[in-house]
Amino acid sequence: MTLSIAKRVFDAEYAIRDPRMAQVVKEVRATGKKIYEFNIGDPGALRGEYGFSMPEYIKKDLIRVISTGKHDGYANEQGEPEVREAIAADSKKRKIADAKPENVVVGNGLSELIGYLFGVTLEKGKNIIVPRPDYPLYTAMARWYGAEVRHYDLIEKEGWLPDLAQLENCIDANTAWVVSIHPNNPTGSVLRSEAMSQIANIVGEKGKGNVPIMSDEIYHRLRFDGKPHPAMASFSEDVPVVTMDGFSKGFYSPGWRLGHVLFSNFPDPAIRDALIKVCAFRLSGNQALQMSYAHALNELHQYEEEQKSYLNRMKERVIFGARSVNAIGGLKVVQPEGAFYMFPRVVKGPWKTDSEFVEELLRQEGIRVVPGSGFGMRPEERYFRMVPLGSKEFQQEAFLKMGSFMERNIKL
Ligand code: PLP
Repeated sequence: MTLSIAKRVFDAEYAIRDPRMAQVVKEVRATGKKIYEFNIGDPGALRGEYGFSMPEYIKKDLIRVISTGKHDGYANEQGEPEVREAIAADSKKRKIADAKPENVVVGNGLSELIGYLFGVTLEKGKNIIVPRPDYPLYTAMARWYGAEVRHYDLIEKEGWLPDLAQLENCIDANTAWVVSIHPNNPTGSVLRSEAMSQIANIVGEKGKGNVPIMSDEIYHRLRFDGKPHPAMASFSEDVPVVTMDGFSKGFYSPGWRLGHVLFSNFPDPAIRDALIKVCAFRLSGNQALQMSYAHALNELHQYEEEQKSYLNRMKERVIFGARSVNAIGGLKVVQPEGAFYMFPRVVKGPWKTDSEFVEELLRQEGIRVVPGSGFGMRPEERYFRMVPLGSKEFQQEAFLKMGSFMERNIKL
């Protein structure tokens, strides 16, 4: 056949949905073992089994929007004016600079916009700087477009605070973006204002105002202390920032696919306009959902109670998960402060790599987690990511098995 698969497909990796592990799951399931899924960051996963779903006031509005029969067409490629207005107004409350509808672009999930933004800005010779552990989409997409990926470490013993000196050293004349993710996937750490403003200052000074920050704040409504999370774009007027946010996490509905970006402090609109041009290729985002997302943001007061109860449930489960990990000999984890992830480390045991540990845990106990090397860690560091979204009873069952797995294997 003359048609062949491009090399970049073989170079691309995405451990969260690794097809090889999916095959192991099939084999384990075929033996009659129960599978404990701790691998996917989706509160609506498993057909609603975790008990989180789209907030009621949005569900009602979406039904209303659909019933009007007026929102079945393609949307504007940048996003419908109503939703961009609502995003700008909400962003203004977070003190985000340049929060105006014309600076907002709406997509089918933030993932789509990350891919497009890299598509319009990255090529061979450019580099991007991402935190390590990373969120693998950033590394996969940057490499897809031929750019170099440089990492700055998040330091575990400092509660996953970023190594700012390393960040500074990575920036050079070819740096296209510095990525910051807070609250963080995969560690669940939450950066305080001081550290966020330090990042903005370092990037501003070393990048001479030419290096933009991609500030992924998709988990900003999921801080366990219930406090509003400061926006990177509120700290400096000299650093261009793209604030990345969306419907998936803060509104517990990743499957509906709506994300957005907002451009702050860019000296000219060229990158924003290039992104809008590319967004026209796929015609549009989902119009009905955009209308209801506008309602969701404009009527946030209707969400207060449900949001509190969801966040409390999330916090309880994640903290229960972290305590359970720390109660098991041979495992250690920093307690998360937001989002719904934790990033434990195997500190004792016979496994040489994270993947060896992860596969054995799956084969012996049916527990599915993701190896830390999928997030840019070295395999021998033996980190793994867990998403403790299941009920306390579900987690208790799984952690009992995990405890005996560790005991058995450490004794070997
Ligand atoms: N950014 C981070 C840090 C994420 O964890 C995720 C999803 O897990 C995304 C972006 C993707 O968001 P979306 O569902 O809007 O594509």
